[in-house]
Amino acid sequence: MNVQIPCGCGQHVAADSSQAGLAVRCPCGREVEVPAWRRPPGGDDRERAGSRPSRLTELGWVFVILAVVVVLVTGAAAGSVCEFIGLQGTRDAKNFRVIMSGGALVLVCAAGAVLRVVFGVRFYRE
Ligand SMILES: [Zn+2]
Repeated sequence: MNVQIPCGCGQHVAADSSQAGLAVRCPCGREVEVPAWRRPPGGDDRERAGSRPSRLTELGWVFVILAVVVVLVTGAAAGSVCEFIGLQGTRDAKNFRVIMSGGALVLVCAAGAVLRVVFGVRFYRE
């Protein structure tokens, strides 16, 4: 593809797109750079998204790991509480652990929503 590169002198210098990024010499003696053409915006992103299914940012990963840790720790803590009050192994103990872990997960998700909406923290690449 042939392109015309404008020179500071007012003339245009003919160049080929294969010369992108290189300099061509104008009849006036100046060197003008052939612009490097970029791929259309978004095309590159889509390719990367295709080859890499994860679109989580580093903060996103930290948050996911934090959420898992919080739920596990809460579950373990609830188990200890059940043991302490002598409920271990009962249906109530199981319900208590599920409710506590679920509640912790809800709290973590709410915290994540607040971070995203109020502070603009990005957990996903957009
Ligand atoms: Zn020139």
